[in-house]
Amino acid sequence: MKKNTNWEYAPAPEAAKIAKIAKRYDHFINGKWTPSQSGKTFRTINPATGRKLSEVADGNDADVDAAVKAARAAYEGLWGKMSGRERGKYIYRIARLMQERAREFSIIETLDGGKPIRESRDIDVPLAANHFFYTAGWADKLEYAFPNRNPSALGVAGQIIPWNFPLLMAAWKIAPALATGNTVVLKPAETTPLTALKLAEIIADSGLPEGVVNIVTGAGTTGAAIVNHPDVNKVAFTGSTSVGKFIQQTIANTDKRVTLELGGKAANIILEDAAIDQAVEGIVNGIYFNQGHVCCAGSRLFIQESVYEEVIWKLKSRMRTLVVGDPLDKNTDIGAINSKEQLKTIQKYIQLGQEQGGDMYQPTCKLPSAGNWCPPTLFTHVTQSSVIAQEEIFGPVLAAQSFRTVPEVISKANNTPYGLSAGVWCDKGARLFQLTTQLDAGVVWGNTFNQFDPASPFGGFKESGFGREGGLHGLAAYLEM
Ligand code: NAD
Repeated sequence: MKKNTNWEYAPAPEAAKIAKIAKRYDHFINGKWTPSQSGKTFRTINPATGRKLSEVADGNDADVDAAVKAARAAYEGLWGKMSGRERGKYIYRIARLMQERAREFSIIETLDGGKPIRESRDIDVPLAANHFFYTAGWADKLEYAFPNRNPSALGVAGQIIPWNFPLLMAAWKIAPALATGNTVVLKPAETTPLTALKLAEIIADSGLPEGVVNIVTGAGTTGAAIVNHPDVNKVAFTGSTSVGKFIQQTIANTDKRVTLELGGKAANIILEDAAIDQAVEGIVNGIYFNQGHVCCAGSRLFIQESVYEEVIWKLKSRMRTLVVGDPLDKNTDIGAINSKEQLKTIQKYIQLGQEQGGDMYQPTCKLPSAGNWCPPTLFTHVTQSSVIAQEEIFGPVLAAQSFRTVPEVISKANNTPYGLSAGVWCDKGARLFQLTTQLDAGVVWGNTFNQFDPASPFGGFKESGFGREGGLHGLAAYLEM
């Protein structure tokens, strides 16, 4: 009899009923829940089941205008005059309330976005709270953070975020804006609006003055209304490079400040002296974390030729142990693909990879019958010119290539329009630094991958955008100096 070497876990589902999701959500404008002026709504669904979670207000120009007016009034009024010390107290309060409701936030993030509960619970929600804690500490110390620069707020910040880390991206945007004394109009992505709306509940509970944070929901046209609004002083956008370019063109003739956090196609480089088992874990974390819906995902794998066969063999065995399925199950490693559209995009790339001569490997997985699913996928025999090695897929698809020398891998790794992140696995610190300093990427991890810290700036070069979020750089992006 053939021995079954795969682990089988008993189901360990998180209790979905803890999450309180209303049947309908309006915009959060001037501290009040406000229906869309057009009366229109859209559905947000659970990508793991295809079932509707809630109806959400669809914002138009008039809703955005009301939100910007509220943000301006708050900026000209109480908030703009408040001391950093007082502002900091509100931000601390938001962080603590988020911690208190962490379990509910994790469940809603998983229900709305499809990511495994283990990740929402251990990464998204704690990191989001940490961003508020970190920036709260700076609110009364900006003079020391930027000595002799006389830092002052910009005014109203218009912020637009994507669907891959909905709460975390909202925290990356709102926390530094508040710490620096700005007011906010934020739009979450249309497939994942719920945790930003839950954050609005916390903001209301924190007693933050009305109008300081406004949340308007909707799709691209709602985002465009924020970008185009004449009374917005700063646009902070995280999303695709194509929309980022469009935004830059739109505001080219204005005095709006802008930061763009865009796409990526990161190289994950395994040198022959690396600790191979650790590196394999890093490869898996690099590309299969959050279904590969990660701007800084290590989607291009470069393995030194002498260890190529060993790494690929170990990687395939590790892939066979990954649990794909119900995102609410605490054993799940890979949850649901965020939307039907994104699943189609990923499938198109998988097909292209095969047509262009790549060898595809997918472990056998039992996938649920409803919802959007894609097994972890590895392509070998990929060339530099393959589309799957060039374009951002934003899914659990890894393209592997080999290399012989360090100069060769540097030139291959940098041969991309993007420049967001990279990883290097190597036993020798000196070699590691020699390599990391030559990679065109905003973040380079050494012997790890996908590590984030509120104190550490994050952002890209080239078509991955400009500006930094996190750390003092992230605060500077909201200040006039
Ligand atoms: P997207 O660009 O389609 O959408 C992002 C947001 O912009 C959404 O809220 C959307 O409604 C809004 N939007 C769409 N068209 C708009 C317009 N014309 N004007 C204003 N707003 C508009 O991106 P997505 O598919 O939601 O997210 C995935 C992309 O985000 C990937 O490319 C990923 O790499 C990138 N991303 C980057 C970072 C980073 O920090 N660099 C982080 C996360 C995601």
